[in-house]
Amino acid sequence: MDKRTFFLKAMAAEEYRRRAWVISAFSQTRENPEAWKADPYPWRIVQTPAAHFFVDPEKGTDRNRELTAIDDAKAGEPPFTFREPIDLKVAEVPNLHRDVRTTYGNTLFNFLVLVYPFGDRVEFQLGRVSAAQLEEHVLKRTIDEPEASADSDAKRPARVTGPAAKGLEAPLYTSEYVKFSNAMFQLTAFTQLCVPAVTRKTMQAAPGILELRNRLLEQNRDHLDDPAVVAGIMKELVKYDKEYLKGDEGANFLITKKSWDVVRTRLFSMMGMEAGFGDLTRADLVKTSLAEGWDISKFPAMNDTLRAGSYKRGAETALGGELVKWLLRVSANLGVTQEDCGARLGLEMTVDEDNIYKLPGSSVVTSGGHEKIDSEEAARKYLGKKIMLRSPMFCTLAKTDYCSVCAGTRLSLNPTALSVAISDYGSTFMGLSLGAMHGKVLETAKMDYSKAIT
Ligand SMILES: [Zn+2]
Repeated sequence: MDKRTFFLKAMAAEEYRRRAWVISAFSQTRENPEAWKADPYPWRIVQTPAAHFFVDPEKGTDRNRELTAIDDAKAGEPPFTFREPIDLKVAEVPNLHRDVRTTYGNTLFNFLVLVYPFGDRVEFQLGRVSAAQLEEHVLKRTIDEPEASADSDAKRPARVTGPAAKGLEAPLYTSEYVKFSNAMFQLTAFTQLCVPAVTRKTMQAAPGILELRNRLLEQNRDHLDDPAVVAGIMKELVKYDKEYLKGDEGANFLITKKSWDVVRTRLFSMMGMEAGFGDLTRADLVKTSLAEGWDISKFPAMNDTLRAGSYKRGAETALGGELVKWLLRVSANLGVTQEDCGARLGLEMTVDEDNIYKLPGSSVVTSGGHEKIDSEEAARKYLGKKIMLRSPMFCTLAKTDYCSVCAGTRLSLNPTALSVAISDYGSTFMGLSLGAMHGKVLETAKMDYSKAIT
């Protein structure tokens, strides 16, 4: 049997759910030659020095399984590799709607993460997939589990049937979302197969990067107290480093900004601005990398950073936690009432692509009262316009209550749970201090001052 046919048959039999199968498909394994006989599950791959075989469920009997060769898989190499191309036709993968050329790795991903939980209802994903975006798409379509029987909780929806239950618009259910999450976590079992972190190149500095650093420091020697200049130098160094690792297997592991801008930079090119207990606008420049050893003349600055990353951060985290508690208590009695306070004021804002997400669920002050915006489409007609958005800040209700118009749809859904939303400010402070330990990146960003002050 040719390897492509074998692979698709194994996928149809859900072998992607079996970790051992995936590992034996995408790497070289060495087992006792008789090992498969103890557990001859269908499509089990049997690698031998001469050729690759599989336990053929279409031959022999349950008691006496036989092996068939995977004809075009070379012995001495893994039967499949993640980046090996494969041409897929529509009928071969349930959620595929046009013929595509992709890779075996991508096909495995689609079967495991999308076909397994959702069948044909979530479109086949090509190329690099963002887990967050995929989850957002799935969550948007996920609805409560339908009623199991007639006497169950009456609030639950009935199972969608007929044409509406099929296709890319059909609802997904909570139980399927759980399967999806489990499948995503299953992927972590394969990190060693497809994203090796340790390669010859990832373990060392880019040749010539120290010379580049010295040259840049020399060119800017009169401006090294300016964080923007240092940020520019850091950017150059990261660019050089990325060029060096281009195409290396290890580069697939270094996908976060932090692994380049913080980890590799500090380790191999330049420690950079050490903020210590302050912020990065007034910092001490440490010109060497950790790999070159500590620059003892910068001992105080580096120690300050260590203290800031350990004790100070712990103390600030505690402060954030205390603020959460305090906010919960002071706001415990706040509530949302169903009426409209009729406020004629609100937050003034000019709607653009960056802040339009704030509109759905809120109301805009109009000449005659207010207009509720209940969808993203409804919000789009305000793009580019200056509006006043109703906000709890301007609610005129007496005592500690807010009206449902100022509070917006989302907060009104849980009228006595305002304190949870309010205490979130404390969580933000806590997150800032928690995040600070993991190293800050010094870089410049464009700021629109008119937006920043409104
Ligand atoms: Zn109000």
